[in-house]
Amino acid sequence: MKNDFDVIVIGAGFAGLYALYRLRDVQGLSVRVFEAGDGVGGTWYWNRYPGARCDSESFIYSYSFSRELEQEWKWSSKYPEQPEILRYLNHVADRFDLRRDIALSTRVVGAQASEDGRGWSVETSSGERVTAQFLVTAVGCLSAANVPKIPGLEKFQGRWVHTGQWPTEGVDFRAKRVGLVGTGSTGIQATPRIAAEASQLTVFQRTPNYTIPARNAPFTAEQWAEIQATYPEIRKRARDGSAGFPFTLAGERALDFTEEERNRVYEALWQEGGFKFLYASFGDILRDKTANETASAFIRAKIRSIVKNPDTARRLTPTDHPYGSKRPPIDSDYFETFNRENVTLVDLRETPLVGITEKGLRTSAAEYPVDVIVFATGFDAMTGALLRMDLRGLRGLRLADAWEFGPRTYLGLQTAGFPNLFTITGPGSPSVLVNMPVTIEQHVDWIGDCIGHMRSQGLARIEAIPEAQDAWVEHVNEVARGTLFYEAKSWYLGCNIPGKPEVFMPYAGGQPTYRKRCDEVARAGYEGFRLSA
Ligand code: FAD
Ligand code: NAP
Repeated sequence: MKNDFDVIVIGAGFAGLYALYRLRDVQGLSVRVFEAGDGVGGTWYWNRYPGARCDSESFIYSYSFSRELEQEWKWSSKYPEQPEILRYLNHVADRFDLRRDIALSTRVVGAQASEDGRGWSVETSSGERVTAQFLVTAVGCLSAANVPKIPGLEKFQGRWVHTGQWPTEGVDFRAKRVGLVGTGSTGIQATPRIAAEASQLTVFQRTPNYTIPARNAPFTAEQWAEIQATYPEIRKRARDGSAGFPFTLAGERALDFTEEERNRVYEALWQEGGFKFLYASFGDILRDKTANETASAFIRAKIRSIVKNPDTARRLTPTDHPYGSKRPPIDSDYFETFNRENVTLVDLRETPLVGITEKGLRTSAAEYPVDVIVFATGFDAMTGALLRMDLRGLRGLRLADAWEFGPRTYLGLQTAGFPNLFTITGPGSPSVLVNMPVTIEQHVDWIGDCIGHMRSQGLARIEAIPEAQDAWVEHVNEVARGTLFYEAKSWYLGCNIPGKPEVFMPYAGGQPTYRKRCDEVARAGYEGFRLSA
């Protein structure tokens, strides 16, 4: 039977938009994209909370596949805010005439592999059933919002919002008492902005976090001209950088330097701001605890020097996990905001959150009446959006069952038992440990080449071989064991979602190593995959 399309792509964020362009316009395939939101942009469509901005520099937090696009789009600053990034992604959709193949406001609720494994039947929220030879998920690693189950929420008389499902019309905080739950990257970005608008902001913190100032600034004409002139070099360095950034390390091992030399490096990077503090300081910060402690201690001292109230400073100071073992935030005046009179910090470790009342939030010590609750409580990361669909492979195997004890993939690209299904930035790939457009483009290009190869060879079916998958899962775990990522209760490990298996999900071996491995696999005739006509 003829399929409706060659490929169905789920999601229209950075990944889905590029997949559509690559598969349709470069590969010549018929492609249909389904997107749950009523606009394109993914993360940047949904996360409209005040203060939302990227913390990869704009000129690398963007596509590299089109030199023309690169030259015609001008970023305003290093870390532009959400509306500008959303405008960029809309510009991409228009420029490459992508919209005609995207069905908006259409959620994929389930998909079933055909019996012969040569195709997929996809079911959407509008009740439609559509078939394609290949199914590509571009559903996002951080798109399934996590609203914690706190007893009493349904009784709350005020308004509550999750930052990852922010209303398009915005939220008016003027003259409002606001309770903000969560101090990850999102809470840290939103806190200063809400504090500046609301009458009172109470921040409910479970785990104190390390954060580095962004020091955002508009690009001068000279800076922008320099970026445009050197784009190919910048892109190459980003692709070659372990985490997808074009940075050079100050040194491989922190302890090879004297304390004074190290602190000079940290101070310079603190003043410069952004991810350089982690990725342009020392190469062993994420591997060696003693090396890491030199960076962690530096940040702790900064917190104490910024926050005037010593008790608040103590509560804001992380001591239970090494810097970088959770995804590090970048901020604009986060710690400074706690010096404002209208901001209060509640330490949920001292007084746990016990429930929500009609009036506000209740801890074991007190009730905090508020008009608005902001949940900056993150996402069911990496697997959430995939498992919220009913994906069924051969013989009805549910993805949820195949991943009962944590996700299992070959290269993060495929799961055994699910032929012709590709996952962009799936678990087991570098994904969230990398500046994401770099890793998204690599995945889309690999998938495009793979489908191109299959077409040229008259092949119709590709499936990960279970033994290759087992070996890859073991390799992912082994690499992670050599890092400090197990030292924190993070979403990388699924710890933020009650009952989720504790498994380190991304691949920590670095983008270049991973890219090389994917290229070798392809060159060896897609080693580890079974291809057939
Ligand atoms: P997304 O942008 O999440 O898009 C996935 C899309 O799939 C969504 O639109 C969703 O609605 C749709 N979808 C999901 N399930 C279904 C379904 N069943 N049916 C139909 N549609 C579905 N990364 C960085 O590298 N640098 C940064 O500075 C950075 N900043 C970030 C800031 C925020 C606030 C957040 C939350 C994340 C940030 N990230 C950052 C990570 C970010 O998610 C990626 O950079 C990137 O945007 C991911 O693109 P994507 O297309 O893979 O996924
Ligand atoms: P997050 O990092 O998971 O942080 C969620 C916060 O909510 C944590 O402080 C967590 O505490 C707290 N929390 C969760 N459940 C809670 C509960 N039941 N009670 C009390 N507190 C609770 O989520 P996020 O801040 O949205 O960030 C997620 C990821 O998105 C980031 O790590 C990053 O990759 C990406 N992001 C990027 C940017 C950017 O680059 N500009 C901005 C925002 C987000 P615990 O720490 O104790 O679990």
